[in-house]
Amino acid sequence: MQQSKSAPVLIVGGGPVGLGLACDLGWRGVECILVEQTDGEISHPRANVENARTMEMCRRWGIAEAVKKAATPADYPHTVVYVTSMRGYEIARIDRPTHGGNAASPASPERTQRCNQLWFDPVLKQRAASLQSVTLRYRTRLEGFTETAEGVVATMVDLMSGERETIEARYMVACCGGRSPVRGQLGVPLEGELSLGYPINIFFKTPELWTRHDKGKTAMNFLVGPEGLWGNLTALDGRELWRLTLQGTTTYRDPSTVDVAREISRAIGCEIPFELMSCQSWVRRDMVASKFRYGRVFLAGDAAHQHSPAGGFGLNTGMGDVFDLGWKLEATLAGWAGSSLLDSYEIERLPVARRNVGEATASFRRQALQGTHAILEASAEGAMERAQIKDYVIAETTRQFVSDGIALGYAYAPSPIVCADGTEAPVFDVQRYTPTTYPGARAPHAVIDGGRSTLDLFGRGFVLIKTGSALVDTKPLLAAARQRGVPMTAYHLPGLEIAELYQRPLVLVRPDGHVAWRGETAPADPLAIIDRIRGAAGA
Ligand SMILES: Cc1cc2nc3c(=O)[nH]c(=O)nc-3n(C[C@H](O)[C@H](O)[C@H](O)COP(=O)(O)OP(=O)(O)OC[C@H]3O[C@@H](n4cnc5c(N)ncnc54)[C@H](O)[C@@H]3O)c2cc1C
Repeated sequence: MQQSKSAPVLIVGGGPVGLGLACDLGWRGVECILVEQTDGEISHPRANVENARTMEMCRRWGIAEAVKKAATPADYPHTVVYVTSMRGYEIARIDRPTHGGNAASPASPERTQRCNQLWFDPVLKQRAASLQSVTLRYRTRLEGFTETAEGVVATMVDLMSGERETIEARYMVACCGGRSPVRGQLGVPLEGELSLGYPINIFFKTPELWTRHDKGKTAMNFLVGPEGLWGNLTALDGRELWRLTLQGTTTYRDPSTVDVAREISRAIGCEIPFELMSCQSWVRRDMVASKFRYGRVFLAGDAAHQHSPAGGFGLNTGMGDVFDLGWKLEATLAGWAGSSLLDSYEIERLPVARRNVGEATASFRRQALQGTHAILEASAEGAMERAQIKDYVIAETTRQFVSDGIALGYAYAPSPIVCADGTEAPVFDVQRYTPTTYPGARAPHAVIDGGRSTLDLFGRGFVLIKTGSALVDTKPLLAAARQRGVPMTAYHLPGLEIAELYQRPLVLVRPDGHVAWRGETAPADPLAIIDRIRGAAGA
């Protein structure tokens, strides 16, 4: 056994969530070690979608442009179609106007992108590796851990040499995916369904597939046959890489039993030349851990919640965990957090995970179209069946593809570190995002000087936004923050539009960009506000 190494934070798992946390902690200058059992190479495509919120995080870490460059080309549409085959009947078409490209959006300085993990994870990895306080250790597997009064002692094995060593950390974050060994050792109960189905992914290469049919460039193509929905053909790089997911009622456990050429021909409507990259089966799950924190150990990403890919919420919900946890770890290690700040991680993130997992499962179930015997026919009956499916698809499944509310509209309310102001919570809408400074919500985006976003002001410490009249006093809150050692900066953003958007003359924003408190005037007891938002209420 080698001598022990130590770091304030140990991250287990180098998928997008572990790497995202390393980026966030590294951006904050917090020392951390990330261990990953593989060599970090990704050969099979999984998550495709980074929603606007994930892109806002990438913007903060300085990699939004790199992600966009690695994503499908800016002019590649994010359109979804339902078809009998790519050369067959088009049943329905759903456009996604807030997705892709670089055009300005009123809701966010960033737009949803399609950058598969094949390219997204390496961008995160490169950024994490460039940060001084981050150590990345590949081919290193966590074998087990014990918790002590001061932290966690974790045993690692170097998979190249076989040597064992221990790493001591004050906190450990398990970002080790759906089969998390940390969750296993802790015996965390899971809520939900172990399996919603056993699909299979066929990953293949064929250039400019859109030249072989009349549907144009599309991102997701749902394939409907007499048995109902049977597959989903997804554009990966917008050039030559594709994924055909067979996802009907069939249970696919063994890829070698699948006739790949036949399935691809059926999807396209004719034989095409292709190169098979890989073929993998996987399990569609609906699971949420019943706890996200055990003492000094936290669960994040798929280790904490596993979603059906419908809606593309898995990776994005995991990145939301990172944004919530990163600053809380920093504050605790820096000494200005109250003793319950870290408790708020589970209180804030568990309901979001439950809602997103539930929405993904409901979306998956809504996809299961009834089989229709005449759907492939040119007859009047066939046309009627296709029209009925179109109406159903547009009415029932659009929310799966346009989910700005899920991406940007979640609020941490109630939360012990958010100061509720007695106003009514805005109605949550999966599809639509309505900007609000309701306490707990993400503070809205507005363009400020030189084309920057209000969001560019957030991240390092708390930010007190003053809008409208210069008469409102920011000093009491700033003085109280100073007294407690809480980093806080104030900005005055004059202008009617921002005053209207921010709804109150004073809005206090947390390092993760969520509203902690808002008011018409300086609070009567500013220290009480500061103690609440740093997790020391009652101190
Ligand atoms: C087919 C498919 C399609 C998907 N599509 C989407 C989508 O469109 N949008 C979306 O948002 N999500 C999608 N997802 C989900 C998405 O891929 C996951 O949510 C995401 O990868 C989770 O990231 P993670 O970092 O939490 O876990 P993972 O990506 O699973 O990473 C965990 C890492 O931990 C490592 N590890 C495990 N145990 C140890 C150990 N003992 N020691 C060291 N390292 C360890 C693993 O090697 C792995 O690299 C999809 C998933 C699938 C299966």
